[in-house]
Amino acid sequence: MDLFEMAKVPMAAAEKAMNLDPGAAAIIAEPERVLEVHIPVRMDDGSLKVFTGFRAQHSTVLGPAKGGVRYHPSVCLDEVKTLSFWMTCKCAVAGLPYGGGKGGIICDPQKMSQRELERMTRGYIDRIAPCIGEKLDIPAPDMNTNGQVMAWMMDEYSKIKNQYEPGFITGKPLGMGGSEGRTAATGLGVVVAAMEAMKVKKIDPKKATVAVQGYGNVGSWTAKHFAKRGCKVVALSDIKGGIYNPKGFDMKKLDAYYEKKRTLHGFPGAKEITNAELLALPVTVLAPCAMELQLTKDNADKVRAKMIVEGANGPTTPDADKVFDKKGIFVVPDILANGGGVTVSYFEWVQNLYRYFWTEKEVVEKQTEMMKRAFKNVYETSKKYKVNMRVAAYCVALNAMAMPMKMRGIY
Ligand code: NAD
Repeated sequence: MDLFEMAKVPMAAAEKAMNLDPGAAAIIAEPERVLEVHIPVRMDDGSLKVFTGFRAQHSTVLGPAKGGVRYHPSVCLDEVKTLSFWMTCKCAVAGLPYGGGKGGIICDPQKMSQRELERMTRGYIDRIAPCIGEKLDIPAPDMNTNGQVMAWMMDEYSKIKNQYEPGFITGKPLGMGGSEGRTAATGLGVVVAAMEAMKVKKIDPKKATVAVQGYGNVGSWTAKHFAKRGCKVVALSDIKGGIYNPKGFDMKKLDAYYEKKRTLHGFPGAKEITNAELLALPVTVLAPCAMELQLTKDNADKVRAKMIVEGANGPTTPDADKVFDKKGIFVVPDILANGGGVTVSYFEWVQNLYRYFWTEKEVVEKQTEMMKRAFKNVYETSKKYKVNMRVAAYCVALNAMAMPMKMRGIY
């Protein structure tokens, strides 16, 4: 099964639970528009290379498409389509006036100079310019793209439109239209969702232990926010493996160590473990925050966590979900748990449209309130339809889209 087909499995369960109009289901099953572009770039050594890029707009039913642009050698149409579908559902669950989009370029940014990256980035925007815009499709950072890449994209698009266009893109640096609170937003949202889950499961956060897979943007902020709320973070990992201390890490010391050494490994008092061992630890909360397809039929029965809160997109396969349901493991799905990032991207867009900026406190308060509301909505939906939280999240998304789709009309 390819990734897009796999991603649609819980949506099919939601359609069945809600008895959704098959016409609406058929529309949501495919992206509205997919664009493939080819970008010629003059490399630093004088040679010419043609890069392939994509932009998928899964849905614009609830508003402009919204989603990041990823630079990676393994980017492909199937991945971009899937990620745009998840963005549609995530934005709908978070209650944002957006549809879903995603883009990517097949490239290896680690092997490219800054000048080559800039030329490729500007070329990509030139190619997709007719299909993007603050009311049409709003890109953002994703894997291997950052504030600098967003700044080049904004500059290129502003030149094409011959006007200042900060609202066509989010994830910009502070001082050029970026929002306070964006960097930490996804991790903060994961923890807000986890706290709500602990409330309904009557777990005291002060007695909770946590394992976080992945120590990038999402994982590191997730770990910090868990520790801030009194949870004991006992395991962390990156692509090379994990570290474990059953007594819990002092996150301030660990952060200082990471800042200095740029690795988790060798942190005093920590035992080295593998990523597979981390996923099987007997913890209260397992937070996969690295990448997709980490919890599968091969390792699901080894998971001993009481709950899984998904920071990454698509870390759990449908087969693994079945095992977790059977074992009574409470899963807070990606399209709910990691919606904090796009929520603050939405705040950035709003601030850009108004040319009026909020403090970090305002951003955090608004984000927390929206995430709590989204959790409550999904939890109540899971009770109403007697389905797990993932299927319930898809019910919420479908419910948000079904009425506007019908009212706007299908010809
Ligand atoms: P990142 O590149 O900053 O960090 C990824 C981390 O995962 C790194 O520590 C890396 O070493 C580790 N990793 C990579 N492959 C691994 C593997 N096979 N096993 C264990 N660890 C591995 O990325 P990020 O922005 O933190 O994103 C992580 C996940 O969260 C992705 O699935 C992304 O799509 C999703 N996500 C990110 C955001 C955001 O705002 N950054 C928002 C929503 C969802």
